Amino acid sequence: MTETKAVLTEAEREEKLQEKTEEKEVNSKNFIEQIIEKDLEEGVYQHVQTRFPPEPNGYLHIGHAKSILLNYGLAQKYHGKFNMRFDDTNPTKEKTEFVESILADIRWLGADWEDRLFFASNYFQQMYEAAVTLIRKGKAYVCDLSAEEIRSYRGSLTEPGKESPYRNRSVEENLELFENMKNGMYQDGEKVLRAKIDMASPNINMRDPVIYRVAHMTHHNTGDTWCIYPMYDFAHPIEDAIEQITHSICTLEFEDHRPLYDWVVRELEYPEPPKQIEFAKLYLTNVVTGKRYIKKLVEDGVVDGWDDPRLVTIAALRRRGFTPESIKKFVELCGVSKANSSVDYAMLEYCIREDLKQKAPRYMAVLDPIRLVIDNYPEGETEYVEACNNPENEAMGTRKIPFGREVYIERDDFRIEPPKKYFRLFPGNEVRLMHAYFVTCTGYETDSDGKVTVVHATYDPKTKCGSGFSERKVKGTIHWVPKEAAIEAEVRLYENLVDEEKGKLNADGTLNLNEHSIQVMPVCYLEPAFYGAKAPDSFQFVRNGFFCVDSKDSLPEHLVFNRIVSLKSSFKL
Ligand code: ATP
Ligand code: MG
Repeated sequence: MTETKAVLTEAEREEKLQEKTEEKEVNSKNFIEQIIEKDLEEGVYQHVQTRFPPEPNGYLHIGHAKSILLNYGLAQKYHGKFNMRFDDTNPTKEKTEFVESILADIRWLGADWEDRLFFASNYFQQMYEAAVTLIRKGKAYVCDLSAEEIRSYRGSLTEPGKESPYRNRSVEENLELFENMKNGMYQDGEKVLRAKIDMASPNINMRDPVIYRVAHMTHHNTGDTWCIYPMYDFAHPIEDAIEQITHSICTLEFEDHRPLYDWVVRELEYPEPPKQIEFAKLYLTNVVTGKRYIKKLVEDGVVDGWDDPRLVTIAALRRRGFTPESIKKFVELCGVSKANSSVDYAMLEYCIREDLKQKAPRYMAVLDPIRLVIDNYPEGETEYVEACNNPENEAMGTRKIPFGREVYIERDDFRIEPPKKYFRLFPGNEVRLMHAYFVTCTGYETDSDGKVTVVHATYDPKTKCGSGFSERKVKGTIHWVPKEAAIEAEVRLYENLVDEEKGKLNADGTLNLNEHSIQVMPVCYLEPAFYGAKAPDSFQFVRNGFFCVDSKDSLPEHLVFNRIVSLKSSFKL
């Protein structure tokens, strides 16, 4: 085989490498970037302008983060602009609480809309005028059919629809009736305005869709000014056109609505009409995405609000200790695609571990403590041992930890009868106390239930860490916290909120919740280096994972930590 391989000259090799790099560059562009570049090249658009258009009816989640970073990233990449727009044309549900949380989350992610913050409800007048334009062009009509009748006239995927008996009203009559709709002369549902397109279209969205409805409802921004409200498919392209959006990026379920989007901007004759591009929604295993489900969990009190650390709202991820950098990295790794799929939650965990491993100091904390008494250590004496704050980042320096006769160790680091391959403490065994001495277990005490309360040991003064001692080796190293200087804290451990293995949903459509999704460790001990910790500080608790101070419940006199993620994972890139 080997002799068939041609030997490349230096120049040829270089050329090949160059080709490969170029190929990679082209391939590494996602399909949206390819569309944008083609548009710029062909002069379809002179600039790039994107937007993020949430409905203010809930908190943003990880899926929205993807959309925000995608839209903002494209605007940055092509030296364009990024608009923040609340899509608040629907008079129900919108809440100021959501407007504020959404802005805070986007700011935290690092997407900057500068002075371009818009509310779609401010365009109601233009939308109304657009509807009048369509009527004048003979492209819209007032229809008296009920919602039920409209549905049955619409036909099906296999059958064409039937034309409304009101379809051929004159322009004058339509103008007058629409004016009456606007002036509050009809009840909700009595009349609607419909686009006049094609009842036989193979695309059901094109079969004379309703574009305006009567709704006597108070709007959070415009109050009672309007009693007619535009439908989403009509409003959205107009919002985009008004703001001179070029690439209107949305999720896949709107693909079938694109012909209507195009129809609206074409009929309204916008000079540089925006174009809609769809991509697949981000779904994650083991967690609940989808505003509807999250809202229900919040409303049913299953979780502690929209920012419960078990959720994947942006507020929850922030409280859990995720960083904007980790979310960005995650979104990048997910890529942009046209095919729906679920991303493994472990990938999100991988991203935060990668981000924190160099940033977070590594301190010792004991989550499930028992006392270890070193009987041959002088009573009342304290010395200091030195520890590196982050072996992967020497710039983080070192600290001194007090060491004395009594320390806390993890309950799990001691066994009366060790299983096979257990190298930690058990009677007669010697281990290293991290950064300190070798200790040998000499005994233990139990309470009346047989539960271990104290472990006894002796230490070898010659084995102080860094002393150069190398006479013998020990197989186990355990962490500890000095009893006299320990800081007490509460620590919360989390597991997935839903049990993916058994299926996210139960037979009745309710969520299949994991009963062990939160475990509270009420009395944990931390080494003194933790003194003054406050949200959003993050740490690596040696051997236990990455933790952050809880922004909601932690107090200087009662610290509360969340486990962000454990240290190990089977996940590989
Ligand atoms: P949900 O499906 O959670 O109810 P939504 O689509 O109703 O969300 P909007 O406020 O309308 O919520 O969403 C704002 C923007 O975020 C839209 O452009 C939408 O396409 C995008 N978006 C929503 N969910 C996802 C997701 N899972 N992945 C990527 N983008 C998303
Ligand atoms: Mg929506």
